[in-house]
Amino acid sequence: SAVGDSSKSAYARERKVVPGGSMRAASWFQPNPPYAARGEGCWVIDIDGRRLLDCANNFFSLIHGHAYAPVLDAVRGAMTKGTAFGMPTESEILLAEALAARNPRMEQTRFCNSGTEAVLAAIKGARGLTGRHRIAKFEGCYHGAYDWVEVSLDPTPANWDDENGNPASVRCNAGTPDTVLRDVVVLPYDDPQRCADILRREGTSLAAVIVDPHASRAGTVPMSRETASVIQEACRRDGIILIADEVISFRLSYEGASPLFGLEPDLITTAKIIGGGLPIGAVSGRANLMAVFDHSAGKPKVSMGGTFSANPLSMAAGLTSLEHYSRPVVDRLNSLGDLLRTRIGKGFADAGVAATVTGMGSLFRVHVGPGKVTGYRSAFPTSEAGNLIRRIQLAMLDENVLLTPNCSGALSSPMTEVEVSAIADKLVRVVRRELGDHPG
Ligand code: PMP
Repeated sequence: SAVGDSSKSAYARERKVVPGGSMRAASWFQPNPPYAARGEGCWVIDIDGRRLLDCANNFFSLIHGHAYAPVLDAVRGAMTKGTAFGMPTESEILLAEALAARNPRMEQTRFCNSGTEAVLAAIKGARGLTGRHRIAKFEGCYHGAYDWVEVSLDPTPANWDDENGNPASVRCNAGTPDTVLRDVVVLPYDDPQRCADILRREGTSLAAVIVDPHASRAGTVPMSRETASVIQEACRRDGIILIADEVISFRLSYEGASPLFGLEPDLITTAKIIGGGLPIGAVSGRANLMAVFDHSAGKPKVSMGGTFSANPLSMAAGLTSLEHYSRPVVDRLNSLGDLLRTRIGKGFADAGVAATVTGMGSLFRVHVGPGKVTGYRSAFPTSEAGNLIRRIQLAMLDENVLLTPNCSGALSSPMTEVEVSAIADKLVRVVRRELGDHPG
């Protein structure tokens, strides 16, 4: 079976002291995930001694895989000097400079400890800059665990339309106040005309539009150029702050995701790979906008801080990780991603199975069903497709490949064509087998 005895008994123990037996639902699956013992490169070794080819990479945060020697050296070097100070360190300057050097729109940065924190700080910043409080976000898109951006994270066909046929603002958590729902406008990811109509109506009341141009939860499909230009124009017209949430998609190019879509965001949130495997988040933007957080002349318009923000371990790991994610490495990883998706797509087509692969750069995801996936609604699985996705993920685990529970994955720089071929061959074989009895 996919999960060994040591992991099963660890899970039985964890269930007693942790609700659901897991610290996060996103990485949990039935019957229970294997427990990690250690990682090396693109492999993770579980506590039963099984070696898994890791396409989850802690939810795409480990661009160089596990225990990457240059990152470990940098962290060791920083750690021996002390782990955190109630003083600034030079390491935070270096990482902020590294971001600014990659993308001029990241002229200034404030660090925090997670993507969630970065997003909520960016939204507060946008409110401070505009004097408005409502925001718009795209249906089905994840931007962290914050009430406002969790609106319409996971609506179902039964509740996703409002009475006018537009995406409804749907509660994700029990107890989220109605006021939050009223103040979050929901946009369809793959319907630029409808986006334009909604923004024409609501635009002047909005502080921010938040967008991930390659949204993982909403299908792991790139946003269309049309949708991107609709929101860009609406933001310019109505004085809305455009926040690009590149927590995952920053890896798509050396400069990040926005330039690939013609987007010119006011604020950019990043996390994951910019921390080299340690906790991190960041809000970046031009100096004139980032001034909203500037406390040096008295109380800032918007406060942003945290005890472990810009801790030197995350700064050191992040700096080294980014230095090693150079243009040639970005290009190589993106080409490997193209190769992977091409091989999987061809394998599915040759086998005549109703499955597709989406993604861009080093990111990919498998969908079950006959239709083309263009956004949240077309990615929304029927209950049969949902069961098949779960079976495929478990079957891949049996084949020693770790995907996320929704069958998405990311490549890391230690991978080569050898691993990419193995992933593609195994996926095609598994999907053929699983869908053989359930075509479409
Ligand atoms: N935004 C996006 C686009 C994300 O994918 C994530 C995490 N997967 C977050 C924000 C939240 O980041 P974190 O888990 O570091 O809080």
